[in-house]
Amino acid sequence: MTRSFKTLDNMGDIAGKRVLVREDLNVPMADGEVTDDTRLRATVPTVTELADRGAIVVLLAHFGRPKGVRQPELSLALLTRPYTVLLGREVRFIDDQGAADVIATMEPGQIGILENTRFDPGEEKNATQTVERLAALGDLYVNDAFSAAHRAHASTEGLAHVLPAFAGRQMEAELDALDKALGNPEHPVAAVVGGAKVSTKLDVLEHLVVKVDHLIIGGGMANTFLAARGVDVGKSLCEHDLTGTAEAILDAADKAGCTVHLPYDVVVAKEFAANPQSLRTCNVHEVAADEMILDVGPAATEALADVLKTCRTLVWNGPLGAFETPPFDAATVALAKTAAALTKEGTLVSVAGGGDTVAALNQAGVADDFSFVSTAGGAFLEWMEGKELPGVAALTR
Ligand code: ADP
Ligand code: MG
Repeated sequence: MTRSFKTLDNMGDIAGKRVLVREDLNVPMADGEVTDDTRLRATVPTVTELADRGAIVVLLAHFGRPKGVRQPELSLALLTRPYTVLLGREVRFIDDQGAADVIATMEPGQIGILENTRFDPGEEKNATQTVERLAALGDLYVNDAFSAAHRAHASTEGLAHVLPAFAGRQMEAELDALDKALGNPEHPVAAVVGGAKVSTKLDVLEHLVVKVDHLIIGGGMANTFLAARGVDVGKSLCEHDLTGTAEAILDAADKAGCTVHLPYDVVVAKEFAANPQSLRTCNVHEVAADEMILDVGPAATEALADVLKTCRTLVWNGPLGAFETPPFDAATVALAKTAAALTKEGTLVSVAGGGDTVAALNQAGVADDFSFVSTAGGAFLEWMEGKELPGVAALTR
């Protein structure tokens, strides 16, 4: 496959070379323990490969939001022990002061974590001084943090202009998956866009209608589209001030030859609670004034599964219902299972992302059966909006 960026395969002999590796180590911690190590595990392939090839591996990462001020509780020194345990290799902490001298004592194959990049006010400003300070610590630069690539910071973008720059294994996998889903996908392409509000995903919807063949709209945002089509959505979450925008999106889809799928049956309740007394399923035109739409109905969900069966590619962001509260996860779980089964059969490439979407796919037990699940929240959404991510652009110059 021809790619517009270089990977670890293009680095040549790196034995004894100092490699600066931008990773996402921004994990949640409580009482000195990492409470979710997903992001740490994702760094292992790149870090171990570089170390095994004899590089002196210096990790760059931010941790929390110190806003350019040194804060002991946000020091990456706190992560050295958990990361050592996870890797099963010694990892040393490298303070900013005297970093070059410490790195000069490191042997090929050794791994170190440099102090929180955001302690330096120049990091988020992508200041030349900061880029030069970091560049002086390495010979080569690897960016493995897609999740930070929507920010043009010194460690995510600036360094790629002053050192030979390569995508890490994690970045490579993410870019390949995203390219298959929206860059150069096999058609027909379906997009599922759900979640709470239209207002948070306007740019996503506008970008997708000109890219995909089927746009499946669910979640709270479907209510705004239904309202735009004259449906009375009762007490449902609905952005009535955006019905004009929703109409414009429907028009744009029509012009672009994109079929928009809105639910025609829905699951409603009078109160938002688990398994409420007032739970019922009805046609979208039968929602009472005191009812809320909380999920896509079973008939519409079956029709959506049939749509996926005709498609070769699926990109999914946002749950179809209020999935955290049973039984309003039913449509999301059912459609996710269909997508997973089609992926296993080899007829569908399925790519999903978004904080709640990943949680919903885990809840459905199918995250591993999708072709790719992105854990990069903000960066994934900006990519779905069709924006150029500065960290990626700098690698593909
Ligand atoms: P993601 O994090 O995957 O991008 P969002 O944050 O946009 O997804 O949306 C997820 C939220 O949308 C969930 O909290 C879910 O409960 C909510 N939601 C989905 N459908 C509805 C609905 N019909 N009414 C109210 N909230 C909904
Ligand atoms: Mg969310």
